[in-house]
Amino acid sequence: MFNRQAIEEKEIAGLAPYAVRSRLSRGRAHSEKEHEWRTAFQRDKDRILHSTAFRRLTYKTQVFVNYEGDHYRTRLTHTLEVAQIARSIGRNLALNEDLIEAISLAHDLGHGPFGHAGERILAELMKDHGGFDHNVHTLRIVEELEESYNSFRGLNLTYEVREGIKKHRTAFDRPSKDGMFTSLEAEVVNLADEIAYDSHDLDDGLRAELLEEEEIKEAVSIWREIGDYIQKANPGIRPVQRKRFAIRLLVNQLVTNMLEETTERLAKNNIKSLDDVQSAREPLVAFPRGFESKRKELKDFLSCKLYNHYRVARMTNKAERVIRAIFNAYLERSDQLPPDVVKKAGMYGLHRALCDYIAGMTDRFALDEYSRFFEPYERV
Ligand code: MG
Repeated sequence: MFNRQAIEEKEIAGLAPYAVRSRLSRGRAHSEKEHEWRTAFQRDKDRILHSTAFRRLTYKTQVFVNYEGDHYRTRLTHTLEVAQIARSIGRNLALNEDLIEAISLAHDLGHGPFGHAGERILAELMKDHGGFDHNVHTLRIVEELEESYNSFRGLNLTYEVREGIKKHRTAFDRPSKDGMFTSLEAEVVNLADEIAYDSHDLDDGLRAELLEEEEIKEAVSIWREIGDYIQKANPGIRPVQRKRFAIRLLVNQLVTNMLEETTERLAKNNIKSLDDVQSAREPLVAFPRGFESKRKELKDFLSCKLYNHYRVARMTNKAERVIRAIFNAYLERSDQLPPDVVKKAGMYGLHRALCDYIAGMTDRFALDEYSRFFEPYERV
């Protein structure tokens, strides 16, 4: 049987010299006795998974609002895909998979209802009151808003997990403070996030019939190469299986390119320790420079044909109307707020308490709240 110390020893012996070791963690804001069986990072990932904010991801939008269909990605399934991709990359690079999993599971906790549309409108409503950004809000959830423990607010996560969350940065996400990464584990999660959404948004777009294979082929060269490969390898394949196969090959292609480039950069920059990682002059986890233009084709295509599709725009606009309306309804008459939110308004000010409350809502709760406010015959 392995107790915590034994698992820590295994990490020290088995992980790459540049990986983060749980025994060397810089610790938690409130000191706690170490667990008998689990390392600090195992404990963090468990805390995140059991948090209220994590369960709410089930009913939060990735691209498609929850009621649009049962087979689209939600924030939760997106998060699980990020964790899966990041962990498998982490295992190849002999990094700390528990740390990777903890950062992955937490990375989108701060998203409000309706994805980026929800974030945009909350940012606008809060612009004179400290703003809103889902990355900053993720940190606020784990440091302040979760209320599961007696002796501290938040989840009291380790420094390394909080740094990983803070530095989370993708084409979509704006980090709170720019800077280099503190661990390869955090960098891996960051790019795994992009690999996950670039490929599953394409998949969902095809499934929703907002995208056509022919137009992807025309605009995205990776998709053409994958199509040619499938044609040769499996000419009789049925269309549905062909699409699934193509998405699998796309994820594989992105991961493989990233692993090769990362291995090269680790060698080229002579990375031998965590210190070397932290003082590196360039991102170490990356795609090959020559491959970036191909990724850009894919991203440009998604942005133009999916994220700006008129049906997605309708979902987005509806979401904005809903959030704006309920925010203003509360603001106008704060006696409509439940007592715990009123209490929070005393602690953080009314605007911040409203923003926290709404950001915590799932899509369906926000829509129900909207009906309760504005449908005359809806029970309140
Ligand atoms: Mg994400």
